[in-house]
Amino acid sequence: MEDGEATGPQDPLALLLEVQARDLHLDQLAYRRRELGERRALETLEARAVELEERSAGLRAERDRLGARLSELEAQADAYRSRIEAIERRLREGGAYREVQAMSGESESLARHRRQLEDEELEVMEQIEPLEEELATLSAEASSLGGARAEASAALAGAEAVLEAEATEVAGERSRLAAGLPADLLATYDRLRQRLGGIGAARLVDGACGGCHLKLPSGERERVLHAAAGEVVFCDQCGRILVA
Ligand SMILES: [Zn+2]
Repeated sequence: MEDGEATGPQDPLALLLEVQARDLHLDQLAYRRRELGERRALETLEARAVELEERSAGLRAERDRLGARLSELEAQADAYRSRIEAIERRLREGGAYREVQAMSGESESLARHRRQLEDEELEVMEQIEPLEEELATLSAEASSLGGARAEASAALAGAEAVLEAEATEVAGERSRLAAGLPADLLATYDRLRQRLGGIGAARLVDGACGGCHLKLPSGERERVLHAAAGEVVFCDQCGRILVA
């Protein structure tokens, strides 16, 4: 490699730092995308929707259980009513005194049982009422939550689209710049970057490595500053590519 090339815009190490800057930018964009406030807002609404659905399912099961009990009681009360009516018809036809006595006794006893059933029906209906009220309240909240979720979801999509557009642009720059790097240098950098928290190459700043921020011993510093053109030097402390 000639001297002019080593210090010019085509210097692979200077180019590598440009790639590194784009990679950091892309990492930041990905982080911002994960941490979007719009995403948190949507997640909160979705968690509430799940909560509402679970609570409603529990209430519906209890209401259905009581509803079945109510139907049972109504059917029993109807059966008593029919038997009472049958006895009363026979009473109207008259008959022997003892027979009439026995029939009216039975009719009274059936009527007593029927009243007990009706009292129980009322109790069950009173238990069902607050369940229905809460279900209606939850259903109203669920439907307004549906609207809020749609809005939050649109807001998230909008915020993501902005970050995505920026990421597409930066990724384009990154691949254009990376195309100008020797393949082995790029591969080494990518490997280091993956292993070392997103930073594979750093500049030497005031005698310290820009990656691990440790001061280099003077001998090491000299080695980096006077590296031959095209020579790749690594930080002794962290192993990153060091660029003077
Ligand atoms: Zn270092």
